[in-house]
Amino acid sequence: MMVWGEQMAEYPREWAQCRSLTKQLVASYVVAFSIVFLMSLLANFPSLLPVHFSGILIILFLLNLVFGIIATHRLATWPCPKCGARFFKRDLYHRNFFTRICVHCGVTKYER
Ligand SMILES: [Zn+2]
Repeated sequence: MMVWGEQMAEYPREWAQCRSLTKQLVASYVVAFSIVFLMSLLANFPSLLPVHFSGILIILFLLNLVFGIIATHRLATWPCPKCGARFFKRDLYHRNFFTRICVHCGVTKYER
């Protein structure tokens, strides 16, 4: 039986980078939905938050949008540690961030 640490033995630095990029992408979505929630809260209950808070939220949302676009691009172009091709992206229109195998060579994510 293999444990997670053994499975990352072959390309540990590359898989760690893949996990980091995935976490950045998920974090950008969590932050975006949190800001939208706060904006809706502010729209419905304006007395709850300070007056200039909506401007700060809009700026944070735009900064997070840029961060999310960069994180998406970095993950989409992340090279497979085995074959060097884009792990999640087959061509211009087909990409799958949920795949567990490389769309080019078939190496399993976090495997030897
Ligand atoms: Zn590959």
